[in-house]
Amino acid sequence: MPESEIEKILSDAQTFLKQEQALFGNTLYHEKKITKPSTAAIVEKVERTESTMAVKKKIETPAPVKKSPIIEEWNSAADIVDLNKQICNCMKCALGKTRTKFVFGVGNPNADLMVIGEAPGADEDAQGIPFVGRAGQLLTKILEAIQFKREDVYIANILKCRPPNNRKPNPDEVEQCEPYLIKQIELIKPKLILCVGLTAAHTLLKTEESLTSLRASVHNYHGVPTFVTYHPAALLRNPNWKKPTWEDVQKLRKMYDELKTN
Ligand code: SF4
Repeated sequence: MPESEIEKILSDAQTFLKQEQALFGNTLYHEKKITKPSTAAIVEKVERTESTMAVKKKIETPAPVKKSPIIEEWNSAADIVDLNKQICNCMKCALGKTRTKFVFGVGNPNADLMVIGEAPGADEDAQGIPFVGRAGQLLTKILEAIQFKREDVYIANILKCRPPNNRKPNPDEVEQCEPYLIKQIELIKPKLILCVGLTAAHTLLKTEESLTSLRASVHNYHGVPTFVTYHPAALLRNPNWKKPTWEDVQKLRKMYDELKTN
């Protein structure tokens, strides 16, 4: 580089330094050029940070504990006797406190026909057996009229404990107790069900239809063909219903015979 150029650079530098001194005193500030990152680089960095955080979060957040459904012991009952043993002290609803006796059911554990009513009444609550008293005796006669002995069938109620003053079962009582009935059906494996009474029919079939309408067809309760007819206690109050009841059970017997021969 020629000497004259060097002198010019030095002179320019001196002038610059003097200006700097005039502005900032004896502290010399050096301006460093900052290169701004490109938008793409920023996006990439954010993405990288977010993905790192996500991975970290994944590692740090414990996996949610999977809740397994509560399987109550009675669900695995081997037979009807075992089931009775397992649930006879049930206190799942308020009726457990007011019952005299738990009314599980009675009859042939391998019955082809199951009779289902609504809930125990006063006699049943006192004896721990379903369908006793006058209504129970009439049920026995109805069964005999279609060639079933009482001991050949299985008789049970939806509720196993008596609602005070024979009031209708509450929905929560049905919700707690009906699974026991379903388990009884699963263990007995009846070919047919006879549901007696409007309340029992409404509760089992989850419908509000009239008894007349329900009697007109065969229903399905947990895979079992189900007939509906009057409750024997209703027949004691109104003997006019005996004839239609007779017709209902005749239809049931006919289907039973057909199932037997097939
Ligand atoms: S009515 Fe059924 S659910 Fe309620 S206490 Fe009796 S057995 Fe248990």
